[in-house]
Amino acid sequence: MATGTAHTGLEAASGSGGLEVRGLRRYFGDIRAVDGVDLTVRPGETVGFLGSNGAGKTTTMRMILDIVAPQAGSITWNGQAITDEVRNSIGYMPQERGLYARMKVFDQVVYFGRLAGLSKAAAKERADYWIERVGLAERRKDLVQELSGGNQQRVQLAVSLVHDPDLLVLDEPFAGLDPIAAVAMQEIITERSAAGACVLLSSHQLDLVEGLCDSVVIISNGQQVAVGRPIDLRLAAGHRTLVVEWAEDVGQWQPLSGELISFTGTRAEVAMPASKDASEQIAHAVAAGSVITLTVEPPSLAEVFSDSVSPPVPGGVASPVPGGVAPASLDATAHDEPISTGEVTS
Ligand code: ATP
Repeated sequence: MATGTAHTGLEAASGSGGLEVRGLRRYFGDIRAVDGVDLTVRPGETVGFLGSNGAGKTTTMRMILDIVAPQAGSITWNGQAITDEVRNSIGYMPQERGLYARMKVFDQVVYFGRLAGLSKAAAKERADYWIERVGLAERRKDLVQELSGGNQQRVQLAVSLVHDPDLLVLDEPFAGLDPIAAVAMQEIITERSAAGACVLLSSHQLDLVEGLCDSVVIISNGQQVAVGRPIDLRLAAGHRTLVVEWAEDVGQWQPLSGELISFTGTRAEVAMPASKDASEQIAHAVAAGSVITLTVEPPSLAEVFSDSVSPPVPGGVASPVPGGVAPASLDATAHDEPISTGEVTS
């Protein structure tokens, strides 16, 4: 924690400490928002929380923040139930903005710093630091409502970081950011994580997620369908893609095995079973002409994601889910208790 910051109760998570969410469930009437989500975020770890629109990510995060009440499951920090004091010190970046539109940028960040328990002097010092870091030094005296959407998003980030929290819950932090701001956001997340913070973030930008996250949890229709390190999930998939480019036209080239996905005469893309040794195929491609580039890669995280969340084929076998977690049923009626007709919010 930086000098002069508030005592949050979030410090000193170590070993098996951090955030643990088990068996979380929330229905809204008969809508299954979340049913059976488990998350573990250890100190120094960044976990990506992935799912299609409406999959249940925001509802899960709101349950961690106690904005929505869970109907089942547990949420702990360092093995203990989360107290109000701990919860108030979480660096939360909501998807919808939670800012005061008619407050100046600097005053806003100071205000939230004070709410998180910082002294006036520390709140001002940290506000200055974070406003500079998110690239808004020139706009510090402007009203929030005068800023563009992306710049308001930057203010939201400064607000969530002003007290140097040890747990960051970021709901789509990259949405609406320009490429430069997105890079700054990645640097800040990496830095906080390197300093020992737990970071849970949702995002639809899977290329960014893959570069940033130690592990990902994929949910579909409120249920967890895959969990693991991005590279492990990718390697667990059943196929690899060979892409080869030649300096000259190689005529009617055909792969030795697998499926030719595309072929232009100088470039071929081949889907091959992961179980097959690629060396013969590579030698076959090299023998055809002067190779400029040749790669054999597992599916991208985006492909793993879309395979994981695609609905089961009616009457057929659901696509295999990579990683260690067996797919939960995607049948909307498959819950083991009567559906609560609980209220819309907590
Ligand atoms: P997105 O990527 O679009 O932000 P999400 O994964 O964050 O989606 P949630 O916002 O958690 O999804 O929504 C999960 C489901 O719960 C959706 O079907 C949504 O309509 C429903 N839902 C969420 N909040 C409420 C609410 N307050 N009242 C009724 N239904 C709700």
